Amino acid sequence: MVSSRRNSDGKALRFRIVSLALLLVIYSGFVQGNQLRNRLQAAMTAYNSTATQTNEARCPVIMGDFVLPFLTTLMSNMDAFKTIELPPFLKTRYPQSPGNLQVRQYLKQTFQSLDWNVEEDISIQTTPFGPVQFVNVIATQQPSASTRIVLACHYDSKLFPLGYIGAMDSAVPCAILVNIARQLNVLLRFLESDITLQMVFFDGEEALWVPSPTDSLYGSRNLATVWQNSADTNVPTNNKLGTIGTFILLDLIGHPSTSFQRYFPETDYLYTQLMNLETCLRRTSLLNTRSDGLLPLFQDSRRLTDISDDHVPFKEKGVPIMHLITFPFPPTWHTMLDVEATMDYQVIDDISRILRVFLTNLIVLGAIQNPLG
Ligand SMILES: [Zn+2]
Repeated sequence: MVSSRRNSDGKALRFRIVSLALLLVIYSGFVQGNQLRNRLQAAMTAYNSTATQTNEARCPVIMGDFVLPFLTTLMSNMDAFKTIELPPFLKTRYPQSPGNLQVRQYLKQTFQSLDWNVEEDISIQTTPFGPVQFVNVIATQQPSASTRIVLACHYDSKLFPLGYIGAMDSAVPCAILVNIARQLNVLLRFLESDITLQMVFFDGEEALWVPSPTDSLYGSRNLATVWQNSADTNVPTNNKLGTIGTFILLDLIGHPSTSFQRYFPETDYLYTQLMNLETCLRRTSLLNTRSDGLLPLFQDSRRLTDISDDHVPFKEKGVPIMHLITFPFPPTWHTMLDVEATMDYQVIDDISRILRVFLTNLIVLGAIQNPLG
């Protein structure tokens, strides 16, 4: 225990040094000049003035106060999200379609340019329309790490109704993942943690005809089996499911009504962290205010009924899951209204801010419980 504590302390120190160095670079005007500097200054002033009013408002993380504005307000760039991150996904992209191939190529190029390891998991499966090829894209920040935090979404869209885009189902979740990778890449590289981020973009989540156990979840069913039968090269005594620290699936995100609930007790400790982070970041003015008076994004309630989604094949094999899916489903779900015009960018921004702090904290602290490991 002592050595792991020391290891964790060492990572925390390294994280603070790297964050401070990056901040100094930005502060000195090297990166984007006055605009970023002013935003950071305003965020830090707001955070410090709120945080000193009450100890309760301080976020329960090991990072110094300067890091929170850095990971939230400063890294927030919704103009870039609108114009760079989201557009590659806003097209029909059902399996084997030209849009599906374009998204896949975009993902591969983007993660290769970030120097992540990129793999494809290809399968040909029987569907109501005959054999169809499904291709999952898997990007890993540090392939030699012994534990992976898997972040997943599905990049395919529904075949029907024809022309369906699926902005919230699940273009936005996939764009959030790419954005997180881009934003945290430098920090993760310097941290050299034995916990890494792995992003899985599933193909064939949607049913091609009528949803059923055999007509849906094509990509995830294949990958869960492939990983169950593959020894992990870093931990040969384990298969690739056993080295997943936690599996976080994002789906149906971006509608003004977006909100999450607890599903599985084994990841309650992580869900509670997300809830606490939302509370403290909101108190310290590091999130957008929900002007509509809706409940928090991360609600303290449990849904007992599981929802069919890409986590199911992994859950059935014992992988600890956190399912971040809006429930009740947004009114735009599986309709032609699931488009950019019905989305709320402030909600997407807040979720991204919370996830950046959450993931960085998790990697620095190394506090993951893996029952399979
Ligand atoms: Zn769907």
